Amino acid sequence: RQAAYAELRDVEPFTRCGTRIGVMMNAGLRDDMSALAMSGADGVGLFRTEFQFLVSSTLPQRERQTRLYRDVLDAAGDKPVIFRTVDIGGDKAVPYIEASMSEREENPAMGWRALRLSLERGGLLKAQARALLEAASGRTLNVMFPMVSEPWEFDAAKEVFDEQLAWLRDRRKRLPEEIRYGAMLEVPALAEALDLILPKLSFLSVGTNDLTQFLFAADRANPKLAERYDWLSPSILRFLQRIAQGVVGHPVDLSVCGEMGGRRLEALALLGIGYRRLSITPASVGPIKELVRKIDLGELSGAMQGWLASPPLDMRAALQDWASERDI
Ligand code: PEP
Ligand code: MG
Repeated sequence: RQAAYAELRDVEPFTRCGTRIGVMMNAGLRDDMSALAMSGADGVGLFRTEFQFLVSSTLPQRERQTRLYRDVLDAAGDKPVIFRTVDIGGDKAVPYIEASMSEREENPAMGWRALRLSLERGGLLKAQARALLEAASGRTLNVMFPMVSEPWEFDAAKEVFDEQLAWLRDRRKRLPEEIRYGAMLEVPALAEALDLILPKLSFLSVGTNDLTQFLFAADRANPKLAERYDWLSPSILRFLQRIAQGVVGHPVDLSVCGEMGGRRLEALALLGIGYRRLSITPASVGPIKELVRKIDLGELSGAMQGWLASPPLDMRAALQDWASERDI
């Protein structure tokens, strides 16, 4: 099968009905970038910048960050990379930042993490903004903020970038050719403010790992709960469908960057409720491209609409049967 996927590397993922699906990959380290050419992904839909922080015993200095981001952009060539600003805290604790916290958190996943931490540790975000802007001089920079819960948090983060941009401009430094800002939708509250945040964004990426944890109130790191809820539940799929419908008509690229998109039946469900871009683990790129080429979106979305209106007892089994009948 690996050989079959290698053949698909240069094949563009068009559905049977002729729609181009974006299949991007998730990455976090320099070494991950070799998978871009190997998998034939369209780009990096989520670069988790916190990995550099997690593997380091001290705070990575700005120059080190710049070097990493530049290397990543060099490795990507013409393909886009979406850099997510650090998502530390929660399940991704770093001792050199945690040590400064005054108290232990009872619920770190819902705590002082990601953009919340970046905005309060302003120096951290400033350094990262400068590193990203410098690394992308003369190219396109795609920046995405994690755990945006209310639109003002996006504004506050973007302001930090604007200040750094002005600083570089004043010093006649070469700036990025274009800067595109996006948000992750992984906190359910943001879905209720979609109309308020969309005009600010170039792209929106749904983080189904955290979103599911918050929708079901089920800790994503607790093994006792790992099998309890299904990504193919009507609640999750209806929620995701409403987001996709809310984005229609806005010039905002919508994607899913959670693990869900890399799984066969889950990817089918996402395509069936309106998603056209997935960012997934590199090993899933080949299998998902193959899947895309076998489907007819009209037929798939018809089936999904029926199931979401009147859910079968076992959504997973229904989708599996539907796929098997079509040799998918
Ligand atoms: C997510 O929450 O779905 C996501 C992609 O981000 P992470 O897994 O890094 O929290
Ligand atoms: Mg997340």
